[in-house]
Amino acid sequence: MDRCVVAMDQGTTSSRAVVFDSRGKMLAQHGIEFAQIYPQPGWVEHDPRAILDTQLESLRLAVRQSGVSPAQIAAVGLTNQRETTLLWDRSTGLPVHNAIVWQCRRSAPYVEKLRAMGLDSHIRQTTGLIPDAYFSATKLAWLLDTLHLRERARAGELCFGTVDTWLAWHMVAGRPHVTDVSNASRTMLLNIHTLDWDDTLLDALDIPRAVLPRVVDTAGVVGDLDAAILGRPIPLAAMAGDQQAALFGQACHSPGMVKNTYGTGCFLLMHTGEQPVTSENGLLSTVAWRIAGKTAYALEGSVFVAGAALQWLRDEMGIIQCAADSEALASSIPDNGGVYLVPAFTGLGAPYWDMYARGTLLGLTRGTGRAHVARAALEAIAYQSADLLRAMAQDSGVHPPQLRVDGGASANGFLLQFQADMLGIPVLRPRVIETTALGAALLAGLAVGVWPDMDALAGVWQPDVHLPPRMDAARRQANAHGWTRAVARSRGWIEG
Ligand code: ADP
Repeated sequence: MDRCVVAMDQGTTSSRAVVFDSRGKMLAQHGIEFAQIYPQPGWVEHDPRAILDTQLESLRLAVRQSGVSPAQIAAVGLTNQRETTLLWDRSTGLPVHNAIVWQCRRSAPYVEKLRAMGLDSHIRQTTGLIPDAYFSATKLAWLLDTLHLRERARAGELCFGTVDTWLAWHMVAGRPHVTDVSNASRTMLLNIHTLDWDDTLLDALDIPRAVLPRVVDTAGVVGDLDAAILGRPIPLAAMAGDQQAALFGQACHSPGMVKNTYGTGCFLLMHTGEQPVTSENGLLSTVAWRIAGKTAYALEGSVFVAGAALQWLRDEMGIIQCAADSEALASSIPDNGGVYLVPAFTGLGAPYWDMYARGTLLGLTRGTGRAHVARAALEAIAYQSADLLRAMAQDSGVHPPQLRVDGGASANGFLLQFQADMLGIPVLRPRVIETTALGAALLAGLAVGVWPDMDALAGVWQPDVHLPPRMDAARRQANAHGWTRAVARSRGWIEG
């Protein structure tokens, strides 16, 4: 009887579950969307109950659809939206507030306060992060202040958690109050060197330790799911933040290996080995995972506008009818004709960090057409990713041998080939494109012995597409030069 592993993938807009067999093949999946709550501009919340209910329901339905019996399920792994912050009553399990979602900006004044206290470089050094309201720390401080909960928190009556913590608490028998290191490293409260909560930051935000979960390994049995959930107590054997799970699911298990997820934006993560790398280029340093007591670190960078540029061409410009149209259009011309789009709609992130930059379309001539603009949008995704990868190589001193890709826009063959061309290394897309869920499943399977060790995972990751670079160096340099000049012209457009 084959042993299966189920991944729960609790995302920002939906909760999903995917059933895998021991060769890493997907047997069934089910996803359920839930409501986004926008109490005021810039604020985003989720109903914690909706997160839990949709996750439970999708788990049950995916297992039912797979036809796998609960006796065959060796373990369940969990991966989740990161940074989203929850606070609940330890005795009743009831949330004291909606979950504050990672995108929410409400706690921005707390970041200013931390900066004013001179903690900017301490935060970078200790947590590997750049101070921002995106991370959980200031969201938790906002909750404790606004709801006047400090005394209850100090008395141990409340539990703070990210989504992994919330789900484990509610799904696992014995109500463990735990978070895994990859999730904890996104709170802006964890010292990523010692893997303990940082007292300086706890003091600065007046967060009592009594409210914090215990930090556990990424792969490891947290406990058994309540028997009522799947009819049998099955171990919850892994928890990981979504991007770290995707890095694992792409089998980027050794230093220098990189994955890029091409979605609305891009998320690039590079495995940097057993020590964190401090970035000189505005990248984040984060825990990738901890397995059997051994910690792996990663550098992380994101492109704010990637697939979103195609949505813009479709919805605002009417240049394409669907994102996939861009591929044929871009391929219908031999080159970009000197046209560049810098989609700095919300400014530029790493390695530029210019919030005054704005979107710029350059090099137009009378002959410029839709194809050039579509091509420029796709090329921009690749240029921005290449900028990040270059920064990662500079920071870590490691040059990646290849790039592994996933996400909705990785369906675009033109984009992938152009990416390989601009990087000068092969781009590989795996057979199982659900790398986040696969990563959670592999971590859980590893913890319970479905796969005896990391080496046994080697055969599970299989490439479907392998694209070596084929552009000549002169053309690559000319493209890169054009992009650099285009970025320079987009910068500082908004007058401060
Ligand atoms: P997210 O998880 O960020 O919502 P997805 O991984 O679902 O994103 O990918 C959706 C994004 O990918 C959209 O921005 C869309 O414009 C883009 N996209 C989807 N298919 C293609 C394609 N064939 N070519 C280019 N972009 C695409």
